[in-house]
Amino acid sequence: MNADVVVLGMGPGGEHVATELAKAGLDVVGVEKELLGGECPYWACVPTKMMVRATDALAEGERINVLAGRSTIERNWDPVARRIREEATDNWDDTVAVERFKSAGGRFVRGDGRLDGPRGVIVGDEHIEVSKAIVVATGTRPRIPDIKGLDGVDYWTNRGAVQATSVPASLVIVGGGAVGCEFAQMFARFGARVTLLEGQAHILPSEETEACNLLHDVFAEDGVDVRAEQAAVACASGADGVTVTTDKGSTVAAERVLVATGRRADLAAVGTSTIGVDEKERWIPVDDHLRVQGAPGVWAIGDVAGGGFTHMAVHHARIVIADILGRPTPGTSDRAKPRVTFTDPEVGAVGLTERQARESGVDVRTGISKVSESARGWIHKVGNQGFIKLVEDRARGVLVGATSVGPVGGEVLSMLTLAIEAEVPCDDLRHMIYAYPTFHRAVEAALADLGN
Ligand SMILES: Cc1cc2nc3c(=O)[nH]c(=O)nc-3n(C[C@H](O)[C@H](O)[C@H](O)COP(=O)(O)OP(=O)(O)OC[C@H]3O[C@@H](n4cnc5c(N)ncnc54)[C@H](O)[C@@H]3O)c2cc1C
Repeated sequence: MNADVVVLGMGPGGEHVATELAKAGLDVVGVEKELLGGECPYWACVPTKMMVRATDALAEGERINVLAGRSTIERNWDPVARRIREEATDNWDDTVAVERFKSAGGRFVRGDGRLDGPRGVIVGDEHIEVSKAIVVATGTRPRIPDIKGLDGVDYWTNRGAVQATSVPASLVIVGGGAVGCEFAQMFARFGARVTLLEGQAHILPSEETEACNLLHDVFAEDGVDVRAEQAAVACASGADGVTVTTDKGSTVAAERVLVATGRRADLAAVGTSTIGVDEKERWIPVDDHLRVQGAPGVWAIGDVAGGGFTHMAVHHARIVIADILGRPTPGTSDRAKPRVTFTDPEVGAVGLTERQARESGVDVRTGISKVSESARGWIHKVGNQGFIKLVEDRARGVLVGATSVGPVGGEVLSMLTLAIEAEVPCDDLRHMIYAYPTFHRAVEAALADLGN
């Protein structure tokens, strides 16, 4: 078989590249071993945010007792599971997505693909000879830590958790990053007794310490037993579930274990050595146009190139589409890469944390304001925890990092992402007009605090 372009892996990144290049008239083959659409719509962003939507509704229902009378809440997981099965994933069936891709002009091959040098891809018995471009978009899979006995336990990763048809009575979550935190709060608010184990000093260890501390307090109110600096080292199943032992010698028993210790790319499975990329690398190394160094005609995008988020996969895809079509495009930069943990409150962040900025040699000035002390936060009352933290490069007078925690922390983050991306001087941000009483007015207060 011959093709102008082969896209290996059809998650959000690969699907976008393949569809747009096919629409542009190129002969594109999209290769996917599981479901066209990838992790995001079937097992990650979309179903988990449906769970978040449901748990937010529960939390707001309880807040009626403070704000608007009396509520009695009867939790039921069935509508959540049904919505994920019927609305989000079509019962984990990609027929519609495959038809959409074909009607855009693409050719679809279901199978486990492998690179065969910079001009070929092998899928089963088929060798595809590529004339113009190969785009590697094979994503990541859960990183499973070396925990004694885990192999013998029927544990969940994100996939098991989003396919849950009922809420376990108790759950141990191994890993307190964004995914672990989202699942911890969701299952706790649906009535599970949740223990969250994190080996590092804080949950959400890559975010600002203030965000970790705040989430820690909120989780305590939710009844989540957060155990920081406790890594799971052993696991055993018994009659009533699983017992997990930590490196501090404590044990936790639960009906179910959920492993959420990050993701890893499997470069050996993709055959990157045939394009000169060491299969032991964490990600495929790329330049700012996502071109694989030393392999002309090969691009890598999304999680396999270290993207980590759906918006990064799609951002990468746009650059690669332009590059392959010979259209000028600015390259990617990590300066204003946003990230949101969809807990309640949401933890949004962009650019560098204070520590990262200091470690990279920036002369830093920070400003912070509490959402609860803004007019809107005060009016909001219950559920108003949050803050804005700004990290300024003092010499240049521009922001290099920002964190927005609050009821709509991820939405408020948008203006901070713009400020960092466009390097808007903080003086200009101070003179901007902030609508009253919005949550984003807390940004104005944090800017005022920068001077102190
Ligand atoms: C629980 C959870 C929640 C998340 N929530 C969010 C969120 O709210 N917002 C956000 O931005 N991100 C979120 N993410 C991250 C997001 O899911 C990923 O960043 C995104 O899916 C990456 O897209 P991708 O196209 O790079 O890879 P993927 O979505 O992983 O797709 C890669 C595809 O390649 C296929 N493939 C792999 N190897 C081969 C092969 N050899 N041959 C053929 N096909 C192959 C796979 O089957 C897969 O379909 C979440 C992740 C998890 C786990």
